[in-house]
Amino acid sequence: MDRKIVHSNVTVGENGHLFFAGADTVLLAEKYGTPVFLLDNARVRARIREYKEAMQMNFGESSVPLFASKSLSFKEIYRIMAEEGIGTDIVSSGELFTAVSAGFPMERAFFHGNNKTDFDIQYAIENRIGYFIVDSMEELLLIDEYAEKAGIRQKILLRLTPGIDPHTHQKISTGGVDSKFGSAIETGLAERITKAALSQTNIELCGFHCHIGSQIFEIEPYITAAEIMLSFILKMKEKFGFTAKILNLGGGFGVRYIESDPEISITKNINAIGAYIRKKCAETALDMPIIYMEPGRSIVADAGMTLYTVGTVKEIEGFKNYVSIDGGMTDNPRYTLYQSAYTVLLANKANEKADFSCTIGGRCCESGDLIQENVLIPKPERGDILAVLVTGAYNYSMASNYNRVTKPPVVVLRNNTEKLAVRRERFEDLVACDI
Ligand SMILES: *Cc1c(COP(=O)(O)O)cnc(C)c1O
Repeated sequence: MDRKIVHSNVTVGENGHLFFAGADTVLLAEKYGTPVFLLDNARVRARIREYKEAMQMNFGESSVPLFASKSLSFKEIYRIMAEEGIGTDIVSSGELFTAVSAGFPMERAFFHGNNKTDFDIQYAIENRIGYFIVDSMEELLLIDEYAEKAGIRQKILLRLTPGIDPHTHQKISTGGVDSKFGSAIETGLAERITKAALSQTNIELCGFHCHIGSQIFEIEPYITAAEIMLSFILKMKEKFGFTAKILNLGGGFGVRYIESDPEISITKNINAIGAYIRKKCAETALDMPIIYMEPGRSIVADAGMTLYTVGTVKEIEGFKNYVSIDGGMTDNPRYTLYQSAYTVLLANKANEKADFSCTIGGRCCESGDLIQENVLIPKPERGDILAVLVTGAYNYSMASNYNRVTKPPVVVLRNNTEKLAVRRERFEDLVACDI
């Protein structure tokens, strides 16, 4: 096993099979059926530790990553995050319930979202959520009300929009003034909401948050965001005598989906952000706040792989070839949504020449249900195992039951053993809510 493909946990064995995290994927497909999501436990933990070490080195012991669980959410994930001693972001009561069910310590949980319902706020307070990341004035007043009823003082951060274009896909860019998220610094709203938060009796304002977007490969947008946020913190110190204890810089580091994508060094990125923040704090005599970051994709993406079985192979002479698989947009809607690039391989023919140009189609009644277009794989036959790499983030968590397709299981691979973390849905699950 020497040839690695895109990432070091993807290799080809002597039998010509694709191996993932040291396991033969063809055997895993046989054992668990397809489609199936695989998750490399060691890789997830290595990424978490890289974040944690780099952040603590740069910003001190209290500085930890908060895993953005919208990228991948099921009980085992929260157990891993709890064991690794990091925090988590949740964006719905459903994610909160999942975290609570897994025994995740809620004081390390942060509740996000641009439209928390009254139920969300009450439910999170009942479960003693650590922090709300408050998105608007309306929400601020609601949280104050519900905190009073519960007889507590609720910790919060304010989500601000620094007004940055991070050069990523428009649908995953979130830091612009016109974003649906947060309060803009530019319009003066950020200052007004800070003032309002400081005057609420049942709220403890702990600091500020921004998240500029996702799948970002450059470091400059982060430095600019840090600069804008620290300047805002200084302004609030001068204006209201309020010193922010926490600055949360969000997530968004890009990951390598295909060979031509760059590979980002998490440590180098954090060192660059750290150097800038320390310099700016020293220059302005600001006590450095606790820095949090919220990585999702860069922790789990390359720890994931999806296996499918090839079905119909259709050659439309003079046009294109379709290779159909037993999954599609119901387990990975990212190509349909954003034309996301993926690396596609034939797991049982990993050493054969990839000279068959084709489009990988799903099984839904939907022309847009594609996993990838114009890829080269060895000429496939019905029954071959097709692997899609780097599917750990925003695949399982975005899966749906469209066409009443059941969701695949998630198998966690660790040290030559496997743990079924999520079982395959059954037909009975599909009608479980039907009356
Ligand atoms: C989606 C999201 C993240 C995680 O982004 P990644 O690109 O997965 O790292 C972090 N924070 C917030 C507020 C988000 O919406």
